[in-house]
Amino acid sequence: MQNEKRIVIIGAGVAGLSAGIYAEQHGFHAILLEKNPSVGGMCTGWYRKGFYLDGCVHWLTGTKEGTFLNEMWKNVDAFRTQDDILYLPSWGTFEYEGQKVILWRDLDRAEKEWKEISPVDSKMIHKFFKMVKDFTKVELPLDLPLSMIPLNRKIGLGMKVLSVWPSYLKTMFISCEEFAAKFKSPAIRFALTKAQIGEGNLFSMIYSYATVVMGDGGIPVGASKPMVERMKEKFIALGGTLKLNANVDSVIIDNGVAKGVKLINGEEYQADYVVSCLDTNYTLKRLLRDQYKFPAFQKRFDDPVRHQAPSCMLMHFSVKKNNNLPIPYTFECEPFNVAGNDINHLTIRSYAYDETFTRGDKTVLSVMVDQSNVDYPYWRKLSKNRAMYLKIKQEIAEEVKSRILKKLPDIGELETLDVSTPYTFNHYVNTSNGVYMSFLFSKRDAMFAHSGLLRGLKNFYLSGQWLQGPGGLPIAMTQGKFAIQRICKKEKLSFVFSPVPQKKKA
Ligand SMILES: Cc1cc2nc3c(=O)[nH]c(=O)nc-3n(C[C@H](O)[C@H](O)[C@H](O)COP(=O)(O)OP(=O)(O)OC[C@H]3O[C@@H](n4cnc5c(N)ncnc54)[C@H](O)[C@@H]3O)c2cc1C
Repeated sequence: MQNEKRIVIIGAGVAGLSAGIYAEQHGFHAILLEKNPSVGGMCTGWYRKGFYLDGCVHWLTGTKEGTFLNEMWKNVDAFRTQDDILYLPSWGTFEYEGQKVILWRDLDRAEKEWKEISPVDSKMIHKFFKMVKDFTKVELPLDLPLSMIPLNRKIGLGMKVLSVWPSYLKTMFISCEEFAAKFKSPAIRFALTKAQIGEGNLFSMIYSYATVVMGDGGIPVGASKPMVERMKEKFIALGGTLKLNANVDSVIIDNGVAKGVKLINGEEYQADYVVSCLDTNYTLKRLLRDQYKFPAFQKRFDDPVRHQAPSCMLMHFSVKKNNNLPIPYTFECEPFNVAGNDINHLTIRSYAYDETFTRGDKTVLSVMVDQSNVDYPYWRKLSKNRAMYLKIKQEIAEEVKSRILKKLPDIGELETLDVSTPYTFNHYVNTSNGVYMSFLFSKRDAMFAHSGLLRGLKNFYLSGQWLQGPGGLPIAMTQGKFAIQRICKKEKLSFVFSPVPQKKKA
């Protein structure tokens, strides 16, 4: 398949790489422009003191063979075979006042154990696991934008959803915190509010757990970096042009039509279409000079208290390899302060399960301390004083270390390897307010999804994780694909990598 049209794609994160691959596969010439010296955006890994550190994938929805997402991940070479995927036995271990609550992938085992922990909660526990089981029955349609799903598939999907509708309905308008309050056991309440952000709705939490239960939430060997490097190789092998260190300054617009982009160094790239695969706010405000409006997004973006989006401090330590440590492992700790918030629990993740991270008898241990878009002004201000910024990062890492050592005195020496903050994410990929995913799906905030088209601007497509809450890697990858599907539709081209191919129109 060959056509003469050029597509300039801004940003070589997962969305940009996916858009580039799908564009090349449909005969366009894709030029992928990335401001950093390497691809991947937030899906990345790096080296410190000889250790390989991972900055992203904790679980990847779409690792189960036979699903649409699995087919798409393989098409973009995120992984090539099922042998490239590792599975953990649980979605997490949560310890509170000495009692361990485990979200096993084996639901019968989990339900039995939870009932032993708190017989008085048996009825609620059964309800919870029944909902998780129901969620495993429906695969959400991520292969096509909603507007392009044919009617017969919409009806089929509707029927499936109807069969589990009571479970869906019960989870959409209740937060994890509210649901947890219905349990008597403090340890179960702890698990239900810490598995994901407590204010998020139960739907998101159960959806994620069900994904892992179904075997659809594995981790590619080596996690993020090898995954995006494979995508890069595929893009280049298909004939795509990748320009690294290419920092886009603005979109060239002529009479309401996008014609290409201009880099900060003055270089210009002409194109028939422009697809922006980076932070939506940055695209609107900076690259489009605030000339085009996207009210549904702006309304959310301007009210971070109501519309939260997650960020974090991400710390990496080296530690003696211990295969008995639960992964991940969340426990309460003596409170410490981060950006004005009291942090009273830690989630640690040992990478002992993957040899890629082993060095001698040691491996890497990471800790994510929750932050959100609301906390960003603190980090931005702090970053202006470099010495103070480094000092505070180091102090927080010491606070974290001391709490891990108190909880696990036999863990051995912990050496700090790296500390990232919301400011790091902003600095690295231009993500507004330092967030790493799109808006939280909460009972106050319905799931957000957008076509990526801006009124008054032709041949320009927004893409990336921001276009569909709550974001994440599968959304980034599918949004990259959707942008090309929309361009194919405009060009009257068949989209062959869809499981339900569109016929070329006369
Ligand atoms: C600690 C952490 C853990 C995570 N864990 C998971 C997980 O387990 N599972 C999951 O699904 N998701 C996870 N995520 C979220 C996931 O990383 C993101 O959802 C995804 O990477 C977003 O991809 P994207 O392509 O939409 O955006 P980005 O990754 O932000 O890519 C945008 C790209 O555009 C580039 N760019 C920006 N401005 C310009 C410019 N002016 N010119 C040129 N290029 C530019 C950036 O450098 C970047 O490469 C995690 C994220 C973090 C930080």
